[in-house]
Amino acid sequence: MSARPRIGVSACLLGEAVRYDGGHKAAPGLIAALRAFAELVPLCPEAGAGLGVPRPPVALHWMDGEVRMRGVEEPGWDPTAAVQNWIAAQAGVLGGLHGAVLKARSPSCGIGTTPLHLPDGGERLASGLLAAHLAERWPRLPLADEETLADDAALAVFRDRVLAYRREAP
Ligand code: SF4
Repeated sequence: MSARPRIGVSACLLGEAVRYDGGHKAAPGLIAALRAFAELVPLCPEAGAGLGVPRPPVALHWMDGEVRMRGVEEPGWDPTAAVQNWIAAQAGVLGGLHGAVLKARSPSCGIGTTPLHLPDGGERLASGLLAAHLAERWPRLPLADEETLADDAALAVFRDRVLAYRREAP
């Protein structure tokens, strides 16, 4: 068993300037609370996939029976495969996590909070590409976003889930 649990964290929450607009979404209080008990592993699927910083914004679309990532201003731009390839290449890192804290509403990182545009013009909420992969590949892996961990009680519950997962991890 590793010395400390490992939690994957959206790099922008760690203060890394990797967002599409060149900025970050640093959450210093949350990060300090996580660092108190875990090793944090930065993850940014979009920068990692080489989409660039800054880069054109992307959104999720339901197309031909699957979720696709497409450019907001350039709908013909489809970096889905690039992001999926990056995720697949991280299998060793992702498989060693005991939890993940991901940015809400992101097309890559959102956990059931990301708008998914439907062919009829409507939309529903879905998970981003990385969050969906983690939930499918490791269904018991504790996942949370920065908004659901906004209070001490929620953080304590998440910490207990991470520690329990680590105890039970193969
Ligand atoms: Fe990168 Fe995810 Fe943050 Fe977007 S939300 S900048 S993909 S870490």
